[in-house]
Amino acid sequence: MKHISLLGATGSIGTQTLDVIRQFPKQFSLEAMSVGRNIDLAIEQIHEFKPSVVSVMSKTEYDKLVHQVPSDTKIVWGNEGLSEVATISKVSIVVNAVIGSVGLAPTLAAIREGKTIAIANKETLVTAGHIVTNEAKRANVPLLPVDSEHSAIFQALQGEQKSEIDKLILTASGGSFRDRSRSDLKDVTVQEALQHPNWSMGAKITIDSATMMNKGLEIIEAHWLFDIPYEKIDVLLHKESIIHSMVEYIDGSVIAQLGTPDMKVPIQYALTYPNRFQNFTNERLRLSEIGQLHFQAMDVERYRCVEFAYEAGRIGGTMPTVLNAANEVAVSYFLQNRLSFLGIESVIEQAMTEHEAIQQPSLEEIVAVDLETRQFIDTLIK
Ligand code: NDP
Ligand code: MG
Repeated sequence: MKHISLLGATGSIGTQTLDVIRQFPKQFSLEAMSVGRNIDLAIEQIHEFKPSVVSVMSKTEYDKLVHQVPSDTKIVWGNEGLSEVATISKVSIVVNAVIGSVGLAPTLAAIREGKTIAIANKETLVTAGHIVTNEAKRANVPLLPVDSEHSAIFQALQGEQKSEIDKLILTASGGSFRDRSRSDLKDVTVQEALQHPNWSMGAKITIDSATMMNKGLEIIEAHWLFDIPYEKIDVLLHKESIIHSMVEYIDGSVIAQLGTPDMKVPIQYALTYPNRFQNFTNERLRLSEIGQLHFQAMDVERYRCVEFAYEAGRIGGTMPTVLNAANEVAVSYFLQNRLSFLGIESVIEQAMTEHEAIQQPSLEEIVAVDLETRQFIDTLIK
C-alpha cells in the first residue's frame, strides 16, 4: 500500500489523480490532501477518501470547512498547512498538483523528509530548479514527472545511457490559437483562449498553452528533470498530441512515447513506477482510426514565449524565476480581462529586460525576486 499526499486535490490534475487512486484501493490510499478555495468539492473528497489531514488556502476556508467534516479529520491552512500535508510521516509519495510557485516550499519540505515527489507543478522547477534538484539528489529521492511530455521522455530514457542522448524533442499541440497568425491575436478573448483543441486542463495552463509559455516552462522543466543542456532540447509542433515527446540518440534512433491525450496515464505511471498497472478505463490509442500525424517546425517569431524561455534558461540564475512570476501575474490579469493576450508577452519581456540575474541564487533570493517581479508587473499593468 502506498500512502499518498496530494497537493491541489480540487484541480484538474488533482481530481484526475483521485480518479487513479479510486481505481486501485488496495495499492493506494489518500493520507492527506490540500485544496485552495473549492470547499464544496473538498467536502465530497474528504467524505470519499477520508484523509487524516487536509490543508486549505486560508483561515476563511478553514472556518467554512472545519464543522462540515468528520471530527478525526485534521484541518490546517496556509503555507504552513501545505507543508504539513507534504511531510506526514506515513506518506511515501507526494503528488504536487498545485499551480504556481506556491508549490516550491512544500516540495522542498517533502524532499527533506525523504518523500518521493510526483511533480505536475512545473512552476516549482522553473522558479528554483537548481535548488529542488540538488536537494532531491542530496536526499536521494526521485522526482517523477507527471507532465505528459516529461513522462514520455522519462519512459523513453528507461535503460538508456544519458551520455548517448543527442536531444530531447518536446512536442507541442499549438494551443487554442494555432491556426491564427500573430496579427489575428490582437483582440482574442479569454473565452476563445480557454478552448484548448486537445486537452482539458486548468485555466492557467490552458492560457500558457495558447501563448506557448507552457512549452517554454516545459523546456526549463526538462532541463532540470533530465539534466540536459538547453541546446539539446528542441520543440516540435504536433497538433494531434499523440506523440507526447521523444528522445533522439547519437546513433540516430528516436524513441517516442505515444498515447491518447489523457493525463491519467502519466499520473498513473508516476504512482506505479517502476511498474505498470492494468487500466481498463483509459481509452486505448487506435492509430488506424487516427490515420495521420502531423509535424511542423516551431516558429519562435510566432510564439515569442518559447524564445523568452530559452533565453531565461541560458542566462540562468534568477531569470527563470522572473519569467515564471511575470507570466503567472500576467496570465491572471488576462483572465480578469485586464490585459490583452499579446500584452502577456510584452510584460514578460519587460520584466526580463529590467532584471539583472543573480547567479546560484539562494532560496531567500528566489523568493525575493519572485515577489519583486509580481510587484513590477502589478505596477506596470495598473
Ligand atoms: P488547476 O487550476 O486546475 O488546480 C490547481 C490546484 O491548486 C487546485 O486544487 C487549487 O485549489 C490549488 N491552488 C491554487 N492556488 C493555490 C494556492 N495559492 N495555494 C494552495 N493551493 C492552491 O491547475 P491544473 O491541475 O491544471 O495544474 C496544476 C499543475 O499541473 C500546474 O503546475 C500545471 O502547469 C501542471 N500541469 C497540468 C496539466 C493539466 O492537464 N491540467 C498537464 C500538465 C501539467 P482550488 O481549486 O480549491 O482553489
Ligand atoms: Mg505538458
